[in-house]
Amino acid sequence: MLKLEKVHTKYGHIEALKGIDLHIKEGEIVTIIGANGAGKTTTLNTISGILKPAAGKITFLNEDITNLSADKIVAKGIIQVPEGRQIFANLTVYENLLMGAYLRKDKVEVEKDLKKVYELFPRLEERKNQLGGTLSGGEQQMLAIGRALMSRPVLLLLDEPSLGLAPIIVENIFEIIKEINSQGTTILLVEQNAHLALSIAHRGYVMETGRIIMEDDAKALLNNEEVKKAYLGM
Ligand code: ATP
Repeated sequence: MLKLEKVHTKYGHIEALKGIDLHIKEGEIVTIIGANGAGKTTTLNTISGILKPAAGKITFLNEDITNLSADKIVAKGIIQVPEGRQIFANLTVYENLLMGAYLRKDKVEVEKDLKKVYELFPRLEERKNQLGGTLSGGEQQMLAIGRALMSRPVLLLLDEPSLGLAPIIVENIFEIIKEINSQGTTILLVEQNAHLALSIAHRGYVMETGRIIMEDDAKALLNNEEVKKAYLGM
């Protein structure tokens, strides 16, 4: 579905991605794990078109999207839930969710998707008239994911969904991510919580200073001695 070939991304003269090769098959949850500053967010931002690669090629559903603008990439169905969530603080939960569907003209289908989002996140339905800015961190994360689902993503890019959340809420959100995947959405998940990410992913990549240093089935990575020592705190 998605393929990155020798992708380089720079901030000025600093090379944050030093030739990344990565692929995602339809139906998968793929995770990228790695320490702070490894280049995980840069990878997501390069896929979604927020950053332009200096070299390399990105293909999505057999189409070269390397040089497409971010809005064209959204229209292709690649939707990113950014780190720090970035919901609209002064809009209600309901209004925030509708913002995710602003490109869509199929009102009846939008209503159906809204119902689905409320089924996945009952908490959001309970709070649909509450302002986004007054939600708890976990609820804001739910809203950010819900809003992304309202645009019917083909590929969902999740950046650190566990960031700053209590373990019990993180568990709940990861259950829902699994559910979203089993309903047919392919997912690329960036996480510092490597154990959790690998426990729901099919495959994983390990990044270190702008390079992919390992790639394997998630189960194999969970049992890999190097990964255990460096990323799983064992
Ligand atoms: P984290 O989990 O801490 O967000 P990450 O793996 O997502 O880490 P990136 O945010 O992709 O890492 O950063 C990769 C490298 O690029 C880091 O060295 C970082 O300092 C650098 N970098 C990121 N954003 C910028 C920027 N806007 N300008 C300059 N350098 C940047």
